[in-house]
Parts: sequence; structure tokens; C-alpha cells
Amino acid sequence: MKKTARYVFVCGGVMSGIGKGIAIASIGTIIQSRGFEVTAIKIDPYINVDAGTMNPTEHGEVFVTDNGTECDQDIGNYERFLNRNIYDDNYITTGRVYEAVIKKERNLEYNGRCVEVVPDIPNEVIRRIKKVGRKTGADFVLIEIGGTVGEYQNALFLEAARMMRLSYLGRVLFILVSYLPVPKSVGEMKTKPTQNAVRTLNSAGIQPDIIIARSEYPVDEKRKEKISTFCNIKKEDVVSAPDIKSIYEVPLSFEKERLSQKILNKFQLRPKKKDLTRWEKMVRAIKAPQRKVKIGIAGKYFRSGKFTLMDSYISVIEAVKHASYYFEAEPEITWLDTEDYEKRPKLLSELRKFDGIIVPGGFGQRGTEGKIQVIKTCRTQKIPYLGLCFGMQLAVVEFTRHVCGLKGANSTEINPKTKYPVIDLMEEQKKLLSKKEYGGTMRLGAYSCKIAPKTISLRAYKNRLISERHRHRYELNNTYKEKLEQKGLVIAGINPETNLVEIIELPTSNSPRKFRDRKRGMYHPFFVATQFHPEFKSRPLTPHPLFRGFIKACLKRV
Ligand code: GLN
Repeated sequence: MKKTARYVFVCGGVMSGIGKGIAIASIGTIIQSRGFEVTAIKIDPYINVDAGTMNPTEHGEVFVTDNGTECDQDIGNYERFLNRNIYDDNYITTGRVYEAVIKKERNLEYNGRCVEVVPDIPNEVIRRIKKVGRKTGADFVLIEIGGTVGEYQNALFLEAARMMRLSYLGRVLFILVSYLPVPKSVGEMKTKPTQNAVRTLNSAGIQPDIIIARSEYPVDEKRKEKISTFCNIKKEDVVSAPDIKSIYEVPLSFEKERLSQKILNKFQLRPKKKDLTRWEKMVRAIKAPQRKVKIGIAGKYFRSGKFTLMDSYISVIEAVKHASYYFEAEPEITWLDTEDYEKRPKLLSELRKFDGIIVPGGFGQRGTEGKIQVIKTCRTQKIPYLGLCFGMQLAVVEFTRHVCGLKGANSTEINPKTKYPVIDLMEEQKKLLSKKEYGGTMRLGAYSCKIAPKTISLRAYKNRLISERHRHRYELNNTYKEKLEQKGLVIAGINPETNLVEIIELPTSNSPRKFRDRKRGMYHPFFVATQFHPEFKSRPLTPHPLFRGFIKACLKRV
């Protein structure tokens, strides 16, 4: 039987950064727990066709889907909370919408009529949303309209939502995620900004059905009443959503307010019995950790003026958390700015206080020499190390320089004239870059990798053939492969079609004495680096095997 999808639009009021993405992902989790199929769409109002060309300090992490779309980090949240893969169609940007409309116009698909912003742009948005419903066969399509109500940028998306409600009566719901500040000088929770947000939404022809009231504290009955009166909404449809420590607790916090039942009631669907057992078990582990694990992440995309942004590496952080929770440990993450090690090499000795170090993905020269020094310290001091993409490439550079003795070895991304280009641009990338074709042209998305026997990776994955997501232009130059192996580097994973090196390791041993003895060569408790990004596939209920292996090794150091 053909399913009829229901559409839930979620938009934000008052200000950005109040956890709209997590709210939507959590709504997904609780509806799913009632036995319904859920998918989620992210609408980003910027002109960029995708997030691939944006600097992470500007936009946060660029998430990559299995089919190679470089998208907003919220898609990562959806995947993590829904425990499902999300694909290209679920990511809509102004750039994508206009690009499609202009292409159709050029192809005479509008039959010679005048193509106009309204209704042609909203219609294209609606077409895309419906396509997701059709293709995924989901019972519920959740749609996040990026930005805050009242911005110019998202007006056409709100218009699409309004039009959809009109055409699909009873199948479209609106949720406003708003913010209630508690100014210190006043000491009281204020509802006025939310009232204004609703009024702005009203002027776009939309009345919210449910308001999720985000605040530092729970929203009391008095405030709920006030919102009810002034925002024209039933009191029970105001959902209190106070700050909580872990994002993974949000679905449970929503259920305390019986949100899934409220949503299903609005669609006149009978709520099936809910099952959040696994989720509850995980949250219990998060709340009562048995021990701590100290992880250093060495990168460069976290300074924004005087603020530290963690958004640039959100999937890495979450993957560390998932694996730590699995072992009932609480991760303590420290940001290591690698430029500091270039200026003050003495700081490197402090790395020993960490249980493990990660060098995540990265681009360009700034901070790389510092990263190489960090990696060298991990290798020689036997500190568990996990390198992700750039963190793998630089581990190879480090090994080539300091173990193979090829001084000045480098990636051609950092030094195009290096005598030993041990990391080099992939052949097909050379043409693309010479034509300045940057957008969406890296080696992107899922590729398979064959794992070598008797490796740390095989022990972790328990599978010889795996598939992981990529985002890079450079690769290990296979002319150096033999030399690296001769000197003790383990090539632990290879792409079976192209022979590209996907994983490198140092040999390990069951006898810790071997790597405790610094002089006895390469043995290391855990030194694994991947050309792919395992962090994109880690989920709270199914932590990634490599991150699990890494955290396990880190905990042994504690
Ligand atoms: N800059 C490197 C490359 O393009 C690594 C990319 C990354 O870390 N995602 O190959």
C-alpha cells in the first residue's frame, strides 16, 4: 500500500544556536520510537550550492554523506539520532534551488512562460520535499528551515511551507523552536522575544502548532500560560526544553513533556507503544561515568576571535563520545592549537598527560609543522594516536622524514616542490584544479577498503571488506609504499579498485613490554591513521569500531 507522508516543518525563533538541529533530530528519535519511519531534511538558506566550499570556522564542520554530498553538520545529527543514512536529496540550499530552476528555464521546461520568484522558487522547494517523502517512503518527513524567522534569507522557504500546508490539509505541522532568555539583571524568564517571533511567523501566513521553548531553565506554568495567550496556542502545546548536559538526553527530555504523543495526536494518528530502551540505557551510561579519558584534538579550526568553536570537528567529538560511553567513560577533550607547538616546541612534552591524541582532517599549510611534531611525539612516546585524513597524510610525512630519513619529505599540498612528494595530488584532481573546478570535486563519499590480516584495524572491524566516507584530493604516493613498509609502517587497508592506501598503522603487540621499551623499534599500543573519515559513520547506539579501539587503548593508559 502506498504510504502518505506527513510533513513537519521546524523553524527557529529569537536567535540562532539554540539547538534547532538537535531538537529536530530528537523529534525524529521519539517518533521513530513509536514505530514510524522518519527522515529529515535540512534547508540552508545560503547561496552556496553545498557546504564544501566554506571554511569550517565560518560554517562549522562539512559533513559528508555516503553518496558524497558535502553538507551541513545537522545532517550528521540526523544520521546519529535516527541511526539511518541520509542522502543528497535531504539537503536543500538556496543555491541548489535556483540552480535547478534556472536550468529548467534554459531547457524550456516552463513552456515559454515568465518564470518568477513566487511561485516558481517555492514550487521547486515543494517538489524537492515531496521527492524525499516519495523516495524514502517515510511516514514522517521533518524539515528544518535554517536561520531564524524574520530573516530575508529564509522567507521563500517559509512561503513554500505555507503553500504546502494549504495543499495538504491535515498532513503538515509547524513547530517553532524559540528561546526564552533569563536576563541576569531581571532574574525572570522573558516571553516577549518569543511572542515577537510568533508574530513574525504569523505575518508569513504561518501559525505554529507547537512551540518548543528553549531556555536555561524549565519553563514554568505561568510562562506557558503567557505564551499560550499571546501566541495563540494551547498551553499544553508549549513544550519546556531546558538546557541539559548531553544532547543525547534531549529525546528523553521531550518525552517527559509527551511530545511524540502531541505530534501524533495532531495528525490524528494513534500512538503506538514507544520503545526507547536502548536510548535510555545509553543516557544512563552517560550520566554515571565510571572513569575519565583525556583526549587531545590537534587542529586549527577552532579560533573565532576570542571564542573557541567546537563545531568544526563535531563528528569527531561525537565519535569520541560514542566510543567513550560504550566503555562507561567520560571523555575530557582538550583543543590543541598546533601553531603553538611551532612557536614553543617545549610544549610537546605536555602531550604525555593525554591518554590519546587525534589529528583530524585539515587543509593548507598553517599549523602543519606543529601537527607533524605532535604526531612524532605520539609515535615515539607511545601515546595512542588516531589520524583522520590529513592526520593520516601527515603521519606518513612524519614517518618518511624521521624513520625513512628522507629529509624534507612532504605533501605537495604543503610544499609543491618537495624532493620527496610522499603525499601527492590524485591524478584526476590535477585536471580539476587546473580548471579551478573546486566545488564538489574532491574524492567524496563511500569507497570500499580491503583490510590486511593481523592488523589493529581488522581486530577492530572484524571484517575484511569495509566501506567508509572520504573527502580529499591528495593520497599516499604509491612509489614510496615499499620503502615505508621496509621501515616498519603497516599498510593496513587498500582500496581494491584503485590501490590507494586507506589505512596505515604501526605494529602492535599483545605484550605491552614490547612498546614500553622505547628502544625496541616500532611497536606501539595504538597508532592508526585513515585516509577516510570514520567519524562520519559513528552513531551513539553503534560507536565506530576504530574509535572504540582507540578509546580502549587510551583507557589502558589511564
Ligand atoms: N587536505 C588533504 C587533502 O585534500 C586532507 C583533506 C582532509 O583532511 N579532509 O587530501
